[in-house]
Amino acid sequence: MGSCHLLECLNRRILIDCGMFQGSRELAEENGVAFDFEPAAIDYVLLTHAHLDHCGRLPLLAKRGFRGEVIATPPTRELVRLVLVDAAHLQEEEARRHDYPGRRRDEGGGRAPLYTILDAFNCLDRFGRAAEYEQPVALAPGLRATFFDAGHILGSASIRIEVNEGDRVRSVLFSGDIGNTGRPLLRPPAPPARADLVVMESTYGDRLHRSFGASIEEFYAAVCSAVARGGNVVIPTFALERAQEILYVLHQGVERSRLPPAAQIFLDSPMAISATEIFERHSEYLDPEAARMFRQGDDPLHPANLHFAREAADSIALNRITGGAIIMAGSGMCTGGRIRHHLRHNLWRKESAVIFVGFAAAGTVARQIIDGAEHVRLFGEEIPVRSTVHTINGFSAHADQRELLAWRGGIGGCDTTFLVHSEEPAMRQLAEHLQGYRVEMPRLGEAFDL
Ligand code: ZN
Repeated sequence: MGSCHLLECLNRRILIDCGMFQGSRELAEENGVAFDFEPAAIDYVLLTHAHLDHCGRLPLLAKRGFRGEVIATPPTRELVRLVLVDAAHLQEEEARRHDYPGRRRDEGGGRAPLYTILDAFNCLDRFGRAAEYEQPVALAPGLRATFFDAGHILGSASIRIEVNEGDRVRSVLFSGDIGNTGRPLLRPPAPPARADLVVMESTYGDRLHRSFGASIEEFYAAVCSAVARGGNVVIPTFALERAQEILYVLHQGVERSRLPPAAQIFLDSPMAISATEIFERHSEYLDPEAARMFRQGDDPLHPANLHFAREAADSIALNRITGGAIIMAGSGMCTGGRIRHHLRHNLWRKESAVIFVGFAAAGTVARQIIDGAEHVRLFGEEIPVRSTVHTINGFSAHADQRELLAWRGGIGGCDTTFLVHSEEPAMRQLAEHLQGYRVEMPRLGEAFDL
């Protein structure tokens, strides 16, 4: 689902996020339809974070007339640039695949990309002031926005908008995506102490996560046994946040002698390498322990035996390694990208291991392997699955039900809680636990007078 909320007050129109629908093909086509509002009439876009389902339609908004100011935290600005240029590149490639001679536009040929790399760059010109956590940004006389650390990914924020009404102040808080507490690298969410109305995500409103500590132990054990068998370890990973979390866990594993000393780690993803560099440039936004390591010159995202593979030739060279390599590559769901080559070279070998550390949607190659397929199809070939397969679930970037309730409980003075950004069963379960609050579950496009 794409997150996008429009708030109108004091004659200003403010968008909170401008996200892209992700998932099925029908949903993907929704991305091209008209906005429910006039893009040229929007004064501000406040971005909670750099995930595509929160910023992915920004180039389209600018292309269709938006001339206002985009405000985000400094790390979000840099990550958004990376994420949007990558998304535009993928869309251009996808459009090119559909565009072959003799095929007419009305037959599905020559399909135009939703937006191009040029559109992505153009929308970056709309970025104005940077927002620092807990420092109000003025939007108009008597109207301001304050960003609070949401602990979800680097630079992520919950955003409170306050408006003066005579001698009192009314406020509405948009949660953005709320992080999981106790993860490495990021500080826990720090919502404001007060808001009159809350619009909150409820992705995992019906679930409880496994403890992070147990997941790390399981991860080290899986790596050690594959390396001891003489195989490689292949880790399909998302480029942003998950890759850096795994690098941090690997760094700790090397430092604490929890991993075989001879193992070599390869980050085989140009996008993940760039995202890692953005983390390194903004280390003051990380949790105190990681920030301290950076200050002391010990980069916690760079284990001693780490190698970056930016060039395709470096990636191809990895295919010759038969044992002792820990290879991280995208895409996380194995729907494309370099990971498919590493699967092709390792999936059939019983010495090797594949470790999944993220969500895998139904129908993807990742999901087939996780669900125990005996063969998967890669590059037109049936590849038997003989390697060991591990699914480690504790790395979620989203708060679970207990943490969502704790986040909500920390905010006083609230009239109504709007639950958004989730499937209906998760919202209903969370709503049952929010007794004593007025709860609304808005439909797409629904408007409320606050
Ligand atoms: Zn997110």
